[in-house]
Amino acid sequence: MKQFLKIGCLALFVFNVILSGCLPPEAFELEPSDCYEDETYVEEERTCYLTCELEGTCAEDPGLLGFFGDFLAELGDIVFGIPEDVNVLVTYDIKGDRPVDPVEGEPLSDIEDDILADSASHQKMWNEFANIIPAENRKQITQYGIFTDGEENTMAYVEPVQGAETEWRIVMDAVDAENKKEQRYTLIHEYGHVLTLNNQQVPFDKEANSDDAAYEAAFDACPRFFTGEGCANQSSYINAFFDEFWADIYSELPESQDPDEIYEFYEQYEDRFVSDYAATNPGEDIAESWTHFVINDRPSGNLIKDQKVQFFYDYPELVALRDKIRARLYSGDRRD
Ligand SMILES: [Zn+2]
Repeated sequence: MKQFLKIGCLALFVFNVILSGCLPPEAFELEPSDCYEDETYVEEERTCYLTCELEGTCAEDPGLLGFFGDFLAELGDIVFGIPEDVNVLVTYDIKGDRPVDPVEGEPLSDIEDDILADSASHQKMWNEFANIIPAENRKQITQYGIFTDGEENTMAYVEPVQGAETEWRIVMDAVDAENKKEQRYTLIHEYGHVLTLNNQQVPFDKEANSDDAAYEAAFDACPRFFTGEGCANQSSYINAFFDEFWADIYSELPESQDPDEIYEFYEQYEDRFVSDYAATNPGEDIAESWTHFVINDRPSGNLIKDQKVQFFYDYPELVALRDKIRARLYSGDRRD
């Protein structure tokens, strides 16, 4: 498959056409001398890949385990989700895998002024995401924005693009981008939402999202799991996840979504969740379980929280994606 992609890109360059996904981000424009000992230079993409990545054997690389060993232990508290009154400072379209055509918002403080002016760091933050998640797996993400709510708090969020809801926007906090481990954890988590809520998994229900009565009606009419975006497809990841792990306790989830009440709910079912934040709702739970699937070893226990991570091993395409992301995390870390 990889070979086909390369051939496609080469042909397009010959005809001087740029196709989305063909042009690698700037961080990938390397010289052969930039490659590490265990990397191989790929001329067409002007980048170095781990040799094990090209050969598909990275999952067996013992070096990976060392990198991930203390990954979670070093993490602080992370808050996900969309903060209230978010002031998006700039929004880019993603074309040819680069952020282009910035649309500026209105900075409301000196810090926001500085963030908006520093376009080099905008590119760098995008590269961080682009380097972790392969381009062919994030075609739905067509916009990229920057905001800040200060240090910690919300580090990033994703949302459907208004008016074009089959497409998604990822918005990152510029201040939090300094903390690489948390940033990467968050980017994998946010990508987990796009992976499980995109239009192929959950068709976006425009009407339901236009007013409360229509929403309630769509919720009631959905015979499967209703995510908020719409009624999940029968074969979607989130519908299977909900049936297996949430059907028996969903009615007990505090409707208020009040953090204290959610925490009580979490404490009641601690052995079901990989983190306290996962207890927020099934959507956050699958994103957190996905993140643990990517960065941790396969769990050997049989608690429900272990089963939630093992869930992803039933999908060969997700196991392949896990290997790719881990190889990229490992490779990127050594380039810092
Ligand atoms: Zn989330």
